[in-house]
Amino acid sequence: MMIRELRETVCRLHAELVRYGLVAWTAGNVSGRVPGEDLFVIKPSGVSYDDLTPESIVVCDLDGVVVEGTLSPSSDTAAHAYVYRYMPEVNGVVHTHSTYASAWAARGEAIPCVLTAMADEFGGEIPVGPFALIGGDDIGKGVVETLSGHRSPAVLMRNHGVFTVGDSPRSAVKAAVMCEDVARTVHVARQLGDPLPIAPEDIDRLHHRYQHVYGQRSHL
Ligand SMILES: [Zn+2]
Repeated sequence: MMIRELRETVCRLHAELVRYGLVAWTAGNVSGRVPGEDLFVIKPSGVSYDDLTPESIVVCDLDGVVVEGTLSPSSDTAAHAYVYRYMPEVNGVVHTHSTYASAWAARGEAIPCVLTAMADEFGGEIPVGPFALIGGDDIGKGVVETLSGHRSPAVLMRNHGVFTVGDSPRSAVKAAVMCEDVARTVHVARQLGDPLPIAPEDIDRLHHRYQHVYGQRSHL
């Protein structure tokens, strides 16, 4: 039952990647940890977003081995699995090649925290992770090493694209949407001058307020 609901959620969240213009063709994926199990669900490889169904979403163990599903999992499965193995607080992972964020990744440049929305969501700059080839644990390792001890739920993997994490698949998707949004705005700001920094103590205050005070209380 729990896996079925999670498959539905993760299937539906892929439509958000399309809606927010974060993906071309099939290059982007969402996964979600199965609560209380050493399992996660992830997009099947090479299936177009319009053709995704809850049944097509693949169930894997934390080594990335398929335990349920008829299709091959995303080619990024090893990276997602590594994140779930080493970041127990993470319940959702998203990967995209969204345009503006990947342009920063192509330069190997962190996105500086020059917008209050960035302080809110990321608590500072969006960091750059190492160059890593797909397959094996290198990408996952780079994501975990860069995000561990960092407030940002997003990392720009050098010459590649974005990985985001969250306490749910939905919050990881939100971070991917916000990452592309601020990547675009800071890029545009750069065209006509140097964006003004925000003082670290103000970043701290904004981040704290957004994470703990903003929005509806969870019991509502
Ligand atoms: Zn990729």
